[in-house]
Amino acid sequence: MNVPIYLDHHATTPVDPRVLEAMLPYFTREFGNPASRTHRFGWEAERAVEKARRHVADLIGAQPQEIVFTSGATESNNLALKGTAWASRGRGNHIVTLPTEHKAVLDTCHRLESEGFRVTHLPVGQDGLLDLDRLHAALTPETILVSVMAAHNEIGVLQPIAEIGRLCRERCVRFHTDAAQAAGKIPIDVQAASLDLLSLSGHKIYGPKGVGALYVRDASPPLALTPLADGGGHERGFRSGTLNVPGIVGLGAACEICSQEMREESVRLAALRNRLRDSILMKLGEVSVNGSLERRLPHNLHLTLAGVDAQALLMSLSELALSTGSACTSARPEPSYVLKALGLPDDQADASLRIGLGRFNTEEEIDYAAERIVEAVTNLRALSAAPFR
Ligand SMILES: *Cc1c(COP(=O)(O)O)cnc(C)c1O
Repeated sequence: MNVPIYLDHHATTPVDPRVLEAMLPYFTREFGNPASRTHRFGWEAERAVEKARRHVADLIGAQPQEIVFTSGATESNNLALKGTAWASRGRGNHIVTLPTEHKAVLDTCHRLESEGFRVTHLPVGQDGLLDLDRLHAALTPETILVSVMAAHNEIGVLQPIAEIGRLCRERCVRFHTDAAQAAGKIPIDVQAASLDLLSLSGHKIYGPKGVGALYVRDASPPLALTPLADGGGHERGFRSGTLNVPGIVGLGAACEICSQEMREESVRLAALRNRLRDSILMKLGEVSVNGSLERRLPHNLHLTLAGVDAQALLMSLSELALSTGSACTSARPEPSYVLKALGLPDDQADASLRIGLGRFNTEEEIDYAAERIVEAVTNLRALSAAPFR
């Protein structure tokens, strides 16, 4: 067993060796620019990019021409939100989202507010889920976009995107989902969920960092989306710039593997996750699971361990690679804004731990992790002399 054991798969995932294998020729031998139309190098690069586009599309039930390659989910979210807002000026100025969204959505909304757009952050329940009646009530004739993530990067909850999509389609409001944590982990279908825009990221699905995609529904008339950057008009004009061919090949290979293995992998990881949860809950009192238990990613566990400072806990768990929350915000000392939005008081938010299992974790590792967590929590509680057993 190699330590530290990696249990932080919501932050990033290792590149699957099969993905790396697929990418390697495109750094050296097949280095062509897919926009080169006059020789074999360009043709081969273009062929590889189009094959990857098919694999990405297949994973989410889209058509290949609906996939726009980007540098990751952050860029995809920016393009979806700013692109929609800028293209919709004059038609409406209202955007609806959740306070628990990833910063790539929240900070983008914040920027748009400074440009005069109005943003509604709908509250979520204690289970982290959106109440559809609230969404119904929030939509106005001015609403141009609803952005709700499919699966949460901290607490792992799955929003009712099919119901949200149906409502948005009825009201002629564009619907975007940040599926960086959902794609490749649970079935997601852009048709079934009436999606107009969907963001995904390579490095969350055992592909490389710095590559992702935005699904842009092929509608007639075409969806108006103002690009973030001007240039050669690549990717249907939505994303100019020479394509990251090795990265795109890796993203495609990662999507292909997920399409083939997601079903089995999610069953295996859910069983490991439940085993971990049960052994922790059996041996420790005063532990609660955050977020809906039913509507949840199979590989996510999010715990509040009463009386334990999670930062101190992580310091004493050097054999485990874990985190308290989003990698993008955990540099700041404040408690997670996500847990606050669920109504957790600061002391409970500070006692919370995010566990994200992944493709290469074994049962042996999970049993070891459970032992170490139980031991560390027991020691910390004894030190603090608080009334916990
Ligand atoms: C990781 C993540 C992002 C950012 O993706 P990058 O590809 O790293 O830019 C956005 N949203 C969610 C939900 C994520 O988990």
